[in-house]
Amino acid sequence: KTFEELGLNSWLVDALKAMSINFPSEIQKACIPPILKGKDCIGGAKTGSGKTAAFALPILQKLSEDPFGVFALILTPTRELAFQIADQFRVLGKGINLKECVVVGGLDMMSQAIQLSRKPHVVIATPGRLVDHINSSAIASCLGRIRFLVLDEADRLLSDTFVEDLAVIFDTIPKERQSLLFTATMTENIMQLQDTQEDSNKKPFV
Ligand code: AMP
Repeated sequence: KTFEELGLNSWLVDALKAMSINFPSEIQKACIPPILKGKDCIGGAKTGSGKTAAFALPILQKLSEDPFGVFALILTPTRELAFQIADQFRVLGKGINLKECVVVGGLDMMSQAIQLSRKPHVVIATPGRLVDHINSSAIASCLGRIRFLVLDEADRLLSDTFVEDLAVIFDTIPKERQSLLFTATMTENIMQLQDTQEDSNKKPFV
């Protein structure tokens, strides 16, 4: 299968070619078509499998079709992963005027708050710092527009370390959204989540 056959527009296929990426990986083949169709997904994939592009590509395509409607929140457990994900969005999203924003601990709250107030299309965050912003400012107006929630390394995110932060975030963002979950291992927590999905079409697992 080619990226075109998965349903991606030519500007994205060209962006991939410029990165010398010519063929979709397994996780991309499994996840891109259902994500474009509006389904939720649970993808089993380690770092290096191309999982970032598996969610970034369909989100960028939706964004190009509706720049005012689509807003994505990507949650990831570490700062390093957050910056890696932001880099991929930036490179793949060169063709559209993508505004992305990284919200992680250890960096200046104020400059992050300013970036958030500019209504970025994609926010890539670690849970703790995002909750700091939720508690301290008017970020709610921004988060209220979320159409996509991505849990990157969901097995780590759904561990005890982040449970309380995630509860606050899930309470703040709209219930009506597309949820995309990527995990290296199938943990008990994730299996429970999968069981609560009513629509069995919503859960490809690779
Ligand atoms: P990830 O699994 O998202 O951490 O991606 C690991 C690396 O694989 C990144 O540097 C991507 O640019 C690259 N990559 C993503 N998709 C593909 C693909 N279909 N073929 C070859 N490399 C890819």
